[in-house]
Amino acid sequence: MASVPHPMRLPPGMSLDQFSKFITKAHDICGAENVRIIEKSDPLHDGSYVDPCKGHDMHAVLEKDYFVASAVIFPREVPEVQAVMRLCNEFEVPVWPYSIGRNTGYGGAAPRVPGSIAMDLGVHMNKILDVNVDDATALVEPGVTFMGLHEYLEKHKLRDRVWLDVPDLGGGSIIGNAVERGVGYTPYGDHWMMHSGLEVVLPSGELIRTGMGAMPDSDDPSIQRMRPDQQPPNRAWQLFNYGFGPYNDGIFTQSSLGIVVKMGIWLMPNPGGYQAYMITLPSDAALSRALDLTKPLRVGMVLQNVPTFRHILLDAAVYGPKSSYSDSDKPLTEEDLDAIAKKLDLGRWNFYGAVYGPEPVRNVLLSVIKDAYLSIPGTRFYLPEDRNEPRSVLKTRSNTLQGIPSLDELSWVDWLPHGAHLFFSPIAKISGADAMAQYDITAARCREAGLDFIGTFVVGMREMHHIVCIVFNREDPSSRKKAHWLIRTLVDDCAKRGWGEYRTHLALMDQIAGTYNFNDNAQMKLNETIKNALDPKGVLAPGKNGIWPKSYNKADWVI
Ligand code: ADP
Repeated sequence: MASVPHPMRLPPGMSLDQFSKFITKAHDICGAENVRIIEKSDPLHDGSYVDPCKGHDMHAVLEKDYFVASAVIFPREVPEVQAVMRLCNEFEVPVWPYSIGRNTGYGGAAPRVPGSIAMDLGVHMNKILDVNVDDATALVEPGVTFMGLHEYLEKHKLRDRVWLDVPDLGGGSIIGNAVERGVGYTPYGDHWMMHSGLEVVLPSGELIRTGMGAMPDSDDPSIQRMRPDQQPPNRAWQLFNYGFGPYNDGIFTQSSLGIVVKMGIWLMPNPGGYQAYMITLPSDAALSRALDLTKPLRVGMVLQNVPTFRHILLDAAVYGPKSSYSDSDKPLTEEDLDAIAKKLDLGRWNFYGAVYGPEPVRNVLLSVIKDAYLSIPGTRFYLPEDRNEPRSVLKTRSNTLQGIPSLDELSWVDWLPHGAHLFFSPIAKISGADAMAQYDITAARCREAGLDFIGTFVVGMREMHHIVCIVFNREDPSSRKKAHWLIRTLVDDCAKRGWGEYRTHLALMDQIAGTYNFNDNAQMKLNETIKNALDPKGVLAPGKNGIWPKSYNKADWVI
């Protein structure tokens, strides 16, 4: 007789009796209060970004109960993560780790395999273990959010020494974002590039430290007697990423090969001065010209940070829902977009950037930037104080670009009633022609799907992340279906032209992995070989980023 409630979804191939035994053992490891079954009778509440649901995707594009966990486990410390991994191996049950679960647009807290055990690392394992302002480094646990570390710097009056790079929304985990290779907007915007050192629980339950962390800090026997996760780390762990031998860190990103329980992150020294600005671009042609100008300025580091070129509807959506601009339920026309740009006193595209350093440095950089972009007819230059809107996007960006997190940009998702979103995120060259080609194709497909194009070009070191925000009505099955059709179609459209996505939602992982198929899928064969070697029972995040362990028949899981 089962002693636990029936979950909404059992793990694949598992009986209720086995599930019950598993849960009882999980109680022994983490305490009953840290194991929550998602019961058959539970209504699936999405919650909100501030209070997210923990076992399904808040922005579900399929039926809400498809990507749903059977139970959520909240381990309190590293040995419990290790013990849960061993338990999962014993019962051959899939487990999906996440740090906070605010990965909206990419699947949130939901697992790829329905019925997986979700492992929420963030509730208890949320300590800032170290902040070193002289080295400009920090060491954090999975539950440390951008907001949390920023507030710590504020509280301890450390921001005059160091800043933290933050993404658009500050509620996510620093580890969660870095391992997904997410970005922010200061000169330290590539979060993965700026990490240094990982502590990882492998699928077997074994604990490793990467880079310099693999070397104990001294041969003091008292250190050796300590629990491995509590041993003081090598003093160069956060300073030198590579250590000795093969560089392993990369295999723990967008992967199912380990659970990251500590990570070092580089902080940005306070540059001694800062100025954000906006340049409005009146047309698509002006965007194209501006991007051509951007490449040498960015590669040459005159543009010091990660600038963005935002479509008018992204800013418009921050200011109000579609219904505040138009009664139409059709995609907005070119004329509508012009009217909105005029109403908001913005360009059809709007470029947000910043300069960093003492005033003379900023002045020189700004003069080069202005000379370049203001040579394009119709462009206008603004500082934050030039704008009078009550919640100006430029003022929000002015905070984000200096590492002050906010939740302001949450509002664009309310463009439609019951707004939810999927991100379609292909990589583009920093070139006007390439960007326009991607824009033309994505905007045309958006129109075909009956949805508005909302997007932004985010300029990295040598490329752009073209982020298309596909906003749909999560309560309307036909809207969800359109969004799903749109993203699937775009993946194929773009793959034909050699444009690949940098990250994706659970529902698209297999399709996108299939487009990275050079030389008869040679890279996937390598990924599967590593997966099967490190996780022979295939328990850790099966299907993540399209990599299925040998214990799963890929074809059975096609969506
Ligand atoms: P956010 O920080 O935006 O809330 P999540 O915590 O939801 O992000 O993490 C996003 C994804 O990254 C997860 O679904 C998981 O695949 C991966 N991930 C997050 N944290 C870890 C971790 N500590 N170890 C391994 N993978 C992780």
